[in-house]
Amino acid sequence: MITTRFAPSPTGRLHVGNVRTALHNWLLARQAGGRFLLRIDDTDAERSREEHVEAIRADLAWLGLVPDGEERQSARFDLYEREFARLVAAGRVYRCYETAQELDLKRKVLLGRGLPPIYDRAALSLSEADHEAKAAAGERPHWRFRLDHDRPIEWVDGIRGRQHFDPAQMSDPVVRRADGSWLYMLPSVIDDIAMGVTDVLRGEDHVSNTAAQVQMFGAFGVDPPAFAHEALLVGSEGKLSKRLGSLGMEELREAGIEPEAVLSLLARLGTSQPVEAVIDREQLAAGFRLDTFGRAPARFDEAELARLNAQVVHQLSFAAVRERLPEGMDGAAWQAVRPNLNTVAEAADWWAVVKGPISAPDFAAEDRSYLAAAADALGGIEWGENPWPALTGALKESTGRKGKALFLPLRLALTGREHGPDMAALLPLIGRDEALARLGAMG
Ligand code: GLU
Repeated sequence: MITTRFAPSPTGRLHVGNVRTALHNWLLARQAGGRFLLRIDDTDAERSREEHVEAIRADLAWLGLVPDGEERQSARFDLYEREFARLVAAGRVYRCYETAQELDLKRKVLLGRGLPPIYDRAALSLSEADHEAKAAAGERPHWRFRLDHDRPIEWVDGIRGRQHFDPAQMSDPVVRRADGSWLYMLPSVIDDIAMGVTDVLRGEDHVSNTAAQVQMFGAFGVDPPAFAHEALLVGSEGKLSKRLGSLGMEELREAGIEPEAVLSLLARLGTSQPVEAVIDREQLAAGFRLDTFGRAPARFDEAELARLNAQVVHQLSFAAVRERLPEGMDGAAWQAVRPNLNTVAEAADWWAVVKGPISAPDFAAEDRSYLAAAADALGGIEWGENPWPALTGALKESTGRKGKALFLPLRLALTGREHGPDMAALLPLIGRDEALARLGAMG
């Protein structure tokens, strides 16, 4: 049974980058009939906000990425304490007292000598008497995880392939602060074990964390989950722009972007699979493959999202949108205007055109007499199911006009606009009397 998790810190709103991670974890679980968990990483009480937790849930719900379970790290401190005690007993974590300034100085000295700035493990040589003296002086330790230098770190990354790290070239990571609070790394491992997480899929900014975490799993006597690290999302101009980092689901929703468009784009961006409008998320799940991910950053382009959105809207059924359409707008009207929409909200503009009143432009005398002829012709044709070809056919014959000269004045007089949905679909919606009135008013 595959279990994945999405583990946001509720210190802000979700943006497209972390929504992408959430989606990929959802797809991975969904494809295998597994579980997708939401883990709220709220160990940092200062920076975590309940409103962000609620917004994360709401955004996932809007996208349809409903978790099969939700956990909160702030409710799991007892577990972390117990597991930490095991690492203390096993000598895999140790007490340190260096201040940030001292550590900074050590780093600078090493860098100045052309050496990698690796923590020197000075605290490992403190005796029990040293610790007691520090405690008596009111000093409280922070804790580091002791990497096993004799055990090379290796994993086969689902995206990056074989990975190798030499633990001797890494600093022992700080896992707990002097005030007892937790840094991200250790609780995450404890949770992944406790929740039976089988696959960890996250951004490549976590690769070096993974190296340390692989040994943490080992310290608990557990095989690490399968890891995969995806290249980060960047803006179309190349960098991870500020705009992208703050582009949230609420902004997209307000701009008329459909969840299916977001999912269609983010599911395949940065992979070798074509980005296309896919309404059925099960179809996205079925085709999701880690080995199609590239190593280059994935470029997010808002214009591409807008294009996909239009394609999505063109496929949405009346049932899917009916609640968002103006009063009285029916399935036939939706079908008529749908191919011309960029967003569902634009349907209301066309409905207003159908219902009127519209403001038509001033026509030249020549076109005015043409429109008068059109009003006459309309009065004479059999309205039936499809009056447009009947009207234009009659006019073509009687006036000799064709192409744009035949169609454009009619469209302008009937809708007030130069472009729009197929007139054959619009005219029946406008209706006979209203169409006669609009043409007559012009002639
Ligand atoms: N809270 C961490 C983050 O947002 C989770 C990383 C992970 O997936 O393990 O970066």
